Amino acid sequence: MATIAWIGLGNMGHPMTANLVGAGHTVRGFDLSAPALEAAAADGVIAAGSSTEALAGAEIAFTMLPRGEHALAAYQGPDGIFANAAPGTLLIDCSTIDVASARTLHDEAAAAGFEFLDAPVSGGIAGAQKGTLAFMVGGEPDVVEKARPFIEPMAGNIIATGEATTGQAAKICNNLMLFINMVSTSEAAVLADRLGLDHRVFHSIASVSSGDSWPLRTWYPYPGVVDSSPANNDFAPTFTADLANKDITLALAAAEETDTPLVLGTIVQEMLQQVSDAGAGDRDCSIVKKIVDGTFPS
Ligand code: NAD
Repeated sequence: MATIAWIGLGNMGHPMTANLVGAGHTVRGFDLSAPALEAAAADGVIAAGSSTEALAGAEIAFTMLPRGEHALAAYQGPDGIFANAAPGTLLIDCSTIDVASARTLHDEAAAAGFEFLDAPVSGGIAGAQKGTLAFMVGGEPDVVEKARPFIEPMAGNIIATGEATTGQAAKICNNLMLFINMVSTSEAAVLADRLGLDHRVFHSIASVSSGDSWPLRTWYPYPGVVDSSPANNDFAPTFTADLANKDITLALAAAEETDTPLVLGTIVQEMLQQVSDAGAGDRDCSIVKKIVDGTFPS
């Protein structure tokens, strides 16, 4: 069993580390947020006072942070991972970040003599809790194989995506579909409601029909239909609207760079921006249903 450093113990990092602890690994964790650190410690993570303290004795280090700037801050500088990890520590960033920041991390890791992977995940909090996340892993094939046994307790699927940064590329494209499907689910759910369909009846039909999607099965936007839906808890966050906006904005930026018209992606980004602008970016992203039914921002 390994000693693993983990930086970023939020909605995703906390349940991911719980699965590593459950598999018998020693996990030394750090988060800037004291409540996040305490919650992870309650599930067996050894709470560290800094990222350098978390790295002590670790042979592998994971980061699970919100955005590119947070990941860069965690790795760079005198207090960062590159300056303080022991030689030979395998470094894996699971955050969803822009390809340019991922490229910087790969390059700086190589310059500092570390093996590094970009390994964003899909599956949400439920997938993190159950240990069934899909990992999209960009980097050298032998490094991916070296990382595989450490990732396995958290994963349903581990897919090598190719060269450095292709994990992030896959994640950005996947989440473009995710958030378009989230809005399409909201539109259909609100219309079904107004046409007099029972929520459970419509959900049971769509989930075995051609309208099926991950948001339909996981985030159905009316309460009492799907156990995992944030609608059951007044849209308490599982995946915040701000992070969803971040992801779809990454897709739009990549589309601009590659001259790819994203008509639906542009509309969905505008809806998520409306949520963020109204100060509700910390609520679950599936709150866009309230834009569709006209009750936002109440
Ligand atoms: P979160 O905001 O709940 O957690 C991030 C944590 O990182 C916070 O607790 C924050 O305090 C901590 N942090 C920030 N900078 C830090 C630093 N320098 N050192 C230590 N800790 C630091 O976010 P999340 O929902 O766990 O998402 C993390 C990443 O995973 C994001 O990139 C997100 O897009 C991606 N993701 C989220 C989901 C989801 O369903 N929530 C699913 C797949 C991927």
